[in-house]
Amino acid sequence: MILGSTGTIGVNTLSVIDQQQDYKPLALTAGYNLSRFRKQLKKYMPQYAAMLRKKDCDILSKEFPKITFYSGDEGIQKIAALPIDALVISAIVGFAGFLPTYHALKSGKQVALANKESLVAGGIFLKPFLKKPSQILPLDSEHSAIFQLLKGHTMDQIEDVVLTASGGPFWNTPQEQLKTIAVSDALNHPNWAMGNKITIDSSTMINKVFEVIETHYLFDLPPEKIRITIHPSSLVHSLISFNDGVMFAQMSPPDMRIPIAYALNYPHHTALPFGRLDLSKTLNLSFYPPNHQKFPALNFIDRFFQEPDRGVVLNGANEVAVTQFLSGNIPWNKIVDLVRYVWDNFPIMTPNTPEDLLNIHQKVIIYSNEVVQKNNF
Ligand code: NAD
Ligand code: MG
Repeated sequence: MILGSTGTIGVNTLSVIDQQQDYKPLALTAGYNLSRFRKQLKKYMPQYAAMLRKKDCDILSKEFPKITFYSGDEGIQKIAALPIDALVISAIVGFAGFLPTYHALKSGKQVALANKESLVAGGIFLKPFLKKPSQILPLDSEHSAIFQLLKGHTMDQIEDVVLTASGGPFWNTPQEQLKTIAVSDALNHPNWAMGNKITIDSSTMINKVFEVIETHYLFDLPPEKIRITIHPSSLVHSLISFNDGVMFAQMSPPDMRIPIAYALNYPHHTALPFGRLDLSKTLNLSFYPPNHQKFPALNFIDRFFQEPDRGVVLNGANEVAVTQFLSGNIPWNKIVDLVRYVWDNFPIMTPNTPEDLLNIHQKVIIYSNEVVQKNNF
């Protein structure tokens, strides 16, 4: 089943499935994109479907009487929790993906995880499922790379893992120009075509902070064993270093269908007709150190590991900052300022249950929006 089938990861997953006759989506869920969802339902005819708005589900259930519809957040969670054997592609964007991911895991399903925000905000609640081998499969390109590189090796041989980062659209932009970034510039990622939120997260580099946290949880690695390198061509998706100085790198063109196909076919690689690197051309394999001064978001790596309970604050404040930037209400260089203000000022709250976490998330959203309205950051 695909949670978030109308998004970039959802659409890429369906295009991989189109190449593989042995997969059929049992359930699809989407947010608000009725016309795209309708086309997907017509083509794949899943058993179950859900959208956020009840009125959209009412329209669709008349058009597709054989499909069972659920609506709203609860409906999506219900689908995730169905007592059936299915691989779940967790591809909803933002905190909205957390409870569906949690319920899918709790019901015993295997989850291919694209929704990294679940781990940033709610890693403590997903940790128990990471103890079961491969109940959670990474979908993020860097984490899929690390997962593949670690195969057959024990962690005591690994000195550290190195996450590559493209650097986003502003890697080469002079710092003084970062005050006047247009929304269209920030949405123009040099290598990857992705949803708007992760594209903005890549431009500020908060995406890499999230990915360090994701690496920590997925591979049970302490932060000192996780490094970042800037690799603008996005051909090497990550590296691992062994304790004898040997490094392994994983390479492919920047195409999310490749890590998606690996998760769908895990533990095997399977023949697919795309994604070849042409070694007859010059490949740019340059690596540079990250620039914390120009991209202060990177300082949240240390802050998070000092106070991991505040992941929900980091994630929620960032969701508001990105939305406010995309709506033209705050400039690009204030995204991280807002996240820092909320991180510093939002009271500490410890969640006991996943539902508590949702409550805290909602409070962070309200608080962050108030901060923007009062313009006091
Ligand atoms: P997207 O915006 O393109 O798609 C998001 C999907 O979630 C859509 O189907 C949308 O309808 C649905 N959705 C949005 N809000 C929802 C809500 N409140 N409740 C239920 N469904 C909702 O996003 P994307 O780029 O596909 O990213 C999805 C996730 O995968 C994100 O967590 C992102 O960080 C992660 N990811 C994406 C990429 C990529 O290449 N796009 C790479 C690695 C990881
Ligand atoms: Mg990534």
